[in-house]
Amino acid sequence: PPLRVAIMGLGSYGSRVAEAMQACKKAKIVGVISGTPSKISTWQSKYNIPAKNCYNYENFDDIKNNPDIDAVYVITPNALHRDQVIRVAKAGKHVICEKPMGLNAKECEEMIDACKKANVKLLVGYRMHFEPNTVEIINQRSRGEFGRILSFEGGTGFPIGDPTQWRLNKALAGGGSLMDVGIYAVNGARYMVGQEPVWVTAQETKTNPAKFKEGVDETIQFQLGFPNGAIASCVTSYNISLDRFVLNGDKGFAELRPAFGYGPIKARTNKGELSFPHVMHQTTQMDEMAGIILGNNKPVFPVDGEEGLKDLKVIDAIYLAVKTGKKVPLSL
Ligand code: NAD
Repeated sequence: PPLRVAIMGLGSYGSRVAEAMQACKKAKIVGVISGTPSKISTWQSKYNIPAKNCYNYENFDDIKNNPDIDAVYVITPNALHRDQVIRVAKAGKHVICEKPMGLNAKECEEMIDACKKANVKLLVGYRMHFEPNTVEIINQRSRGEFGRILSFEGGTGFPIGDPTQWRLNKALAGGGSLMDVGIYAVNGARYMVGQEPVWVTAQETKTNPAKFKEGVDETIQFQLGFPNGAIASCVTSYNISLDRFVLNGDKGFAELRPAFGYGPIKARTNKGELSFPHVMHQTTQMDEMAGIILGNNKPVFPVDGEEGLKDLKVIDAIYLAVKTGKKVPLSL
């Protein structure tokens, strides 16, 4: 039987996930949690969802008594993830949480604890960990095909529109471009290099303080150092279009461009181009996550709460480095 999933937060990404899940073999949408009754009825007819599987933000703790839902996928603004994930865990259901998992490492630790206590699985929506080109590059790197890894470059960014959206509201977003897309460069540096960073330096550039208020970063440049001496150099921005990862070793290189967009992802190495056919990332992700939740499958690079926590530890260190201007040591 498939993993029976309820989606919490029927916004733009929730809608994308739901569309993609229609092609899933191992996961199925069976429920929704939303504050907007009109969205609930649209989703009910589109995805054939019974009224007994529809909840709002006040009553979703009752999912505890619903044997027809196995897992809840939390797809709401960043600042809501912590409390919502903890409530889902307390209701005894597995949780998939969108990135960034929480606003900081402390929140992630609290979420991990709650899920452990409730004996439910906690996964983070890292769709790139299932994307075939990305997986192939990770595998080639771990087989040593690029030799000793020397450097990584990561660019993640897009010119953001509407100044009134939650992504530009510190209280709901927890930050700016770093929290939203810079996390792909943080995560990408870790899965491309295949080591955990031991130090961080970072600088912020703000050209439009009226749009990007206090605590909402427009552009951050950050550097990571790895135990073998490899370095990562990254830029994340709400002002510049950036979507590219480059990995350099002493025997070869890999480039992903685009590297984290919805695809198709394009990959090439010193040996030539990769040619995996494009599949909606969220279809593969949800089928694979169903396998992880129901069958203890293992992804090529982890997607659990500990993985989400590591990225937030790096992000905490990046914000601290911006603030102090100092090199911040890390131990993941
Ligand atoms: P969105 O604004 O389109 O949707 C957010 C939804 O949350 C809306 O339906 C909104 O009504 C609902 N919501 C519930 N309580 C709210 C509140 N108090 N304030 C505001 N909205 C509230 O945003 P989105 O783009 O769908 O992003 C949602 C989450 O998904 C974010 O954490 C984001 O980082 C993540 N996301 C991930 C990816 C990915 O590729 N993995 C892509 C986009 C977004």
